[in-house]
Amino acid sequence: MRTKKDRLKKYLIILIALITCSFKPNWRPTCSKEVRETNTIQAERQVRADSPWRGEKRRSPFVGASCLERKGPQSGFKEQSWQHEVLLQEPNILLQFFPDQNAYRLFRQIPSDLLGLSYAIYPISHGYDTARFNDNKRFNIFPYAIFAPRTEHEIIYVLSKLKKHHLPFSIRSGGHCFEPGSLSSGYVIDLRNFNTIRPDVQKKEVYIGAGCKLGSVITALGKRNYAIPTGTCPSVGITGLALGGGLGPLSRLFGPTCDSIKSITLLTAEGKIIEVTKKHHSDLFWALRGAGNGSYGIVLGFTFKMYYIPAATTVTLTWNWDPATVQAVFQAWQAWVQTLKPTVTTQLNLIYNNKTLSITVGILNAGKGSFSGWQTAFSSLQPQVQIIQGPYLKSAALFAANPPNPFYKAKSEFIFQPLSQEPIQSAISFLEEFALNQEDYVAVCQLYAMGGAIRKGNNAFFPKKAFGWWHQTVFWDRQSQQELALEKLRKFKREIAPFVSPYSYVNYVDYDIGKKYLRVYYGNEVHRLIRIKRKYDPHNLFHWKQSIPVHCK
Ligand SMILES: Cc1cc2nc3c(=O)[nH]c(=O)nc-3n(C[C@H](O)[C@H](O)[C@H](O)COP(=O)(O)OP(=O)(O)OC[C@H]3O[C@@H](n4cnc5c(N)ncnc54)[C@H](O)[C@@H]3O)c2cc1C
Repeated sequence: MRTKKDRLKKYLIILIALITCSFKPNWRPTCSKEVRETNTIQAERQVRADSPWRGEKRRSPFVGASCLERKGPQSGFKEQSWQHEVLLQEPNILLQFFPDQNAYRLFRQIPSDLLGLSYAIYPISHGYDTARFNDNKRFNIFPYAIFAPRTEHEIIYVLSKLKKHHLPFSIRSGGHCFEPGSLSSGYVIDLRNFNTIRPDVQKKEVYIGAGCKLGSVITALGKRNYAIPTGTCPSVGITGLALGGGLGPLSRLFGPTCDSIKSITLLTAEGKIIEVTKKHHSDLFWALRGAGNGSYGIVLGFTFKMYYIPAATTVTLTWNWDPATVQAVFQAWQAWVQTLKPTVTTQLNLIYNNKTLSITVGILNAGKGSFSGWQTAFSSLQPQVQIIQGPYLKSAALFAANPPNPFYKAKSEFIFQPLSQEPIQSAISFLEEFALNQEDYVAVCQLYAMGGAIRKGNNAFFPKKAFGWWHQTVFWDRQSQQELALEKLRKFKREIAPFVSPYSYVNYVDYDIGKKYLRVYYGNEVHRLIRIKRKYDPHNLFHWKQSIPVHCK
């Protein structure tokens, strides 16, 4: 039972917080119209009403692109405007000013030592309805507060208070998790303000804050003709990418993103900040690189090795859609990638977009000089060819694309030998079904060549021996389209299951995998990962639905 004194103290803090809000433009309370439950229909309305890409005609995707593009701001909605000036003495009066009392009800339950923080977004704060969403608007969750600390001191404070009150929380950096792994109906610790990028050309290394997005990393380094291996989508966060492995155009040459990490700055469950390197906490260093997402601590930043890449060539091959051509391109591509040198990356894309189907092969050669091996492999199939040479930044820009729609879901498989005709036929049918009914979706089946340096790393990225990484992603615009998208993806997955390995990519998190997720993501590394978890986080402070547990499941 709370004492009268406690209640008084809390009301006083609320009052101070509200007065502060009314003076700071970024902090004005907003009247959330939602109730605190997953009400997806309302979320959809909001997404559609406020979406910056609303009504925009989708661009045909770049043929070599790994995902697709939308114009306009990269994230978020227009923030709601404040309608009531509130300066209140006590909660009952406060209620009259909130047409929806749920925001206030949430706010009231926050412990007093987590109130009034200038780097927090509360349910009554301006911007709450933007901040509570991830990039993927499928997840309509209402946290008590989102903390976006700016300093080590602030993040240590937040973690210590959440721990003290035994409050559930999630960790978010780039907010591109395919499931709500970085969201929580408790609290969210958001690293967006840890956004420094400090390259050191002399040492050939770069410090990157946990909140940085791939676009800013690629640009900052590319301007100096340097790069680290990243994924291709500019709005994805470096942290989630690197902690789960990280596959992209330079992976065959330098390994997955996690292989270029020299050190990791980590806030531990004990509330200490440590530097994790090959020499210090070597077991944790191994685990964080491939299985580090939300399980062992909060990453504040990384030092990466960076590589000088003066030039690159991008080749894009395109064919008109025809099932026989798709089969032939797959066979030619799969034979060709087995002969590839590691400087070359390639991916095979089957895409349904703008109500049309396309087949493309994207090729990037990060070495200097001429590059022609693809001609022998594909000339008999007579593709349309586009070749672009220039700085690496130019090639990276060609591969870059953000999600084309606000809702999406993906599935992935690692394949250890070339695909036979059956799963390829399933992919053809999967996309042709969308086309048959002229469905308003974007669907991508993309097969990435692995091999090269990916095989060599000493890390927890389990499927390093795979021949390829295949993923299927569907994007859509309206909540009402969701059921069909999920149904089609699940059906496709069932069809191809006998022809692919049982392993999936942890960065393409998929809650459909259910209880067997540990084996599916980490294969025979599971026990080692659990032992390391027990050592560094024995009370399982850092957890989400598919995190590394303290005991075997
Ligand atoms: C459109 C799109 C394209 C993609 N393309 C690629 C690609 O080309 N190659 C590739 O390899 N992957 C790709 N991915 C997958 C991507 O790497 C993962 O979704 C990744 O987890 C996103 O990281 P994030 O920081 O943006 O996400 P978040 O949602 O912020 O976090 C993802 C996970 O990491 C944890 N986490 C976040 N921050 C921290 C932290 N500071 N400390 C500890 N744990 C943390 C979260 O709790 C969560 O479990 C793509 C994803 C999307 C949506």
